[in-house]
Amino acid sequence: MKTKPTAAALRRRRQALLRQLPPLKAILRGSLIERYKRCGKPGCKCADGPGHGPKYYLSVSQPGARPQMDYVPLEYSGQVSDYLHNFQQVRQLLEQICNLNRELLRRRTKF
Ligand SMILES: [Zn+2]
Repeated sequence: MKTKPTAAALRRRRQALLRQLPPLKAILRGSLIERYKRCGKPGCKCADGPGHGPKYYLSVSQPGARPQMDYVPLEYSGQVSDYLHNFQQVRQLLEQICNLNRELLRRRTKF
C-alpha cells in the first residue's frame, strides 16, 4: 500500500516544479504550421510537386473566431517553435502546481 506524501513533501514537489518553469517572457500560444504553394507560373517545377515552401505560419486559435495566422520568416521558426514548447511546459507545470495546492487545501494545511 502506498503511503500519502506528507504536506512538506508536496511543498517540496511544488518548489521543484517552479524551478522547471521556462522564462515566462519566452512563450507563444498556438501552433506552427507549414504551407506549400504552387506559384502557377507556366513551366515552373513546383507544378509537379507540393509547391514552393515550406513557409511557416503561427496559427493562434481564439474562442468564437477563426484562428489568426501570422507569417513566420524561416529564420524565426526555431525560436517560435521553442516559445510554443515553453508555453506547453508552463501550462503543464501550472496544472501540476494547482493539483498540489488542491491536495494541500484538502488537508487543511498551509499552502
Ligand atoms: Zn513555382
